[in-house]
Amino acid sequence: MNLVLFGPPGAGKGTQSKKLEEYYGIPQISTGDMLRAARTAKTPLGLEAEKFMVAGKLVPDAVITGLMEERLKGKDCEGGFILDGFPRTISQAESLQGTLKGQKRRLDRVINIDVDEEELAKRLTGRRQCSQCNRGYHLRFAPPQKAGFCDRCGGALFQRDDDKEDTIRARLKVYRDQTQPLIDHYRHGGLLVTVKGEAPVEEVFDSIVKVLEKDGVNAKVSAS
Ligand code: ADP
Ligand code: ADP
Ligand code: ZN
Repeated sequence: MNLVLFGPPGAGKGTQSKKLEEYYGIPQISTGDMLRAARTAKTPLGLEAEKFMVAGKLVPDAVITGLMEERLKGKDCEGGFILDGFPRTISQAESLQGTLKGQKRRLDRVINIDVDEEELAKRLTGRRQCSQCNRGYHLRFAPPQKAGFCDRCGGALFQRDDDKEDTIRARLKVYRDQTQPLIDHYRHGGLLVTVKGEAPVEEVFDSIVKVLEKDGVNAKVSAS
């Protein structure tokens, strides 16, 4: 099963794609997590991406598409994948389609998680992430048992430098201008399903699984 989880910053893409990864046994691929790891490691990619990320802007398409083309060759992606945060522009979507076509496969579904902007801002300002295992938390909606530390691995939680008020505003505008147009792109392609993302995490998860099961989309590899 080849999936894209789509939605604005804070919609719950990371939260839901990690749950789907566990449920279906196919990898979650988060471009945001990959770029943050590259920044921490101070690789050339990380240093290049940093200036865009701190400003809330998109990293250039050419950088991202090269990265994803390599990632999708991974053996762990042979049985399917869940994309989180990619594609984010029409050009990225076209590149993805080309990459998959070259591998004789295609996307099965694009799940659009719909959440209104006021709720997004609350989610982003309270978001925390584990520095060791990337698990996500929220100060109010999903707090860790011990403040500041991951329930699963004990790693220190951090707040992303782009989850600050000014940068959040910039990111929401970037989403509206550059990423939202993909909704029509995938709707026309017949791949898009929208789920309401304001309910509690488990309810949103159930509605995503229901959509996938209703379609008869299963965990098998999709040939084109
Ligand atoms: P969120 O899930 O909150 O929207 P991400 O972790 O997906 O944020 O992305 C964080 C930042 O990483 C983005 O603001 C952008 O700078 C960069 N980034 C992530 N994915 C992409 C992408 N597909 N194209 C361009 N930039 C990206
Ligand atoms: P995205 O990857 O789309 O940017 P995240 O999955 O990181 O979004 O979620 C953003 C924040 O909102 C996180 O702190 C997460 O714990 C919290 N969150 C995610 N889904 C929900 C939900 N359904 N209800 C309340 N809080 C949520
Ligand atoms: Zn952890």
